[in-house]
Amino acid sequence: MRYDRKFTSENKNNNNDNKTMAQQQTVFSAVQPSGELHIGNYLGALKNFVELQDKYNCFFFIADYHSITENYDPKEKPRQIFDLALDFLAIGLDPKKCTIAIQSQIPEHTELAWIFNTVTPLTELQRMTQFKDKSQQQDKNINMGLLDYPVLQAADILMYKADAVPVGQDQIQHIELTRKIARFFNNKFCNTFPEPKNIITETSKIMSLTNPTKKMSKSHGPKSYIGINDKPEIIQKKMRKAVSTTEYNKDIYNFYATLLKKFGSEKNKRCFNEKLKNQDIKFSELKNALAEDIANYFKDFREKRKELKKNPEKIKRILNEGSKGARFVAQETMKEVKEKVGLVL
Ligand code: AMP
Repeated sequence: MRYDRKFTSENKNNNNDNKTMAQQQTVFSAVQPSGELHIGNYLGALKNFVELQDKYNCFFFIADYHSITENYDPKEKPRQIFDLALDFLAIGLDPKKCTIAIQSQIPEHTELAWIFNTVTPLTELQRMTQFKDKSQQQDKNINMGLLDYPVLQAADILMYKADAVPVGQDQIQHIELTRKIARFFNNKFCNTFPEPKNIITETSKIMSLTNPTKKMSKSHGPKSYIGINDKPEIIQKKMRKAVSTTEYNKDIYNFYATLLKKFGSEKNKRCFNEKLKNQDIKFSELKNALAEDIANYFKDFREKRKELKKNPEKIKRILNEGSKGARFVAQETMKEVKEKVGLVL
């Protein structure tokens, strides 16, 4: 069952003729609304989302249920959900080309997660790296949701029978588990779910500004990342304080080479690539140039986001329409699943 686009008014005038055979392939991914997006999220996932929406039947979700497994302030959550929707749209996701939806607006996701719980061995969840990392980060709040996180993720993905999932490197283990859960279910009941593959970019793990051996992450504090909505002066300030070295250090050199490759102007690439190669670099100059290039790269995004923010009703309408369309597919999947599991009288 594929999502029939005629169910959302945003898609009514949609001309999908350019999505030929590839459109039959479904892509699903989600991002948690847990604070601002950083350039790691962009290079690892969002940049890919924008490219994929032209070729495939894409679902991009705001994973709000996942985000409440972390420490958070309930008063902040609605704004974080709204902000992530703004980010999605300003970066170039187009509701005429893809479905943008909110996880908690589709209750079938938690229903399917419960059924998947019954086919997933506990030991599979206990060995997940992210569970171990997060349990350390929030040692006073090791809740069941944190352990069950990948099962809900599998429900999100398999609900739409996705063929592929664009994610950063940190999610590969979870996608492997999603494949296993599909297999567990198919073996126990009947062939129902495909085993989705992951789609990884060449920059699937962007490192922290302050420690280039660690992944860039919101949880390490704002000094460790550049937000895609950061103002140019903030980017300058963060870059100035970013890691540097007087001697050759592979991690640090790789970190700057990646940023230069992805965001650098042609002139800066020519100038600094050579210097990095010859280990003859003045980090203050490179950081200054990179800060400017990154700020320029996201200039259109910042402006578009500011414009979109002026019309919150439009954003809410897009989210409601997207969620309604996605729910139609989810209900079809759950009907099939419940029959196979033996829950239909
Ligand atoms: P999250 O904020 O955990 O929902 O992540 C959203 C997406 O960004 C996921 O696909 C992650 O794998 C990806 N991601 C997060 N951090 C990084 C990073 N430092 N480098 C590359 N991709 C990342």
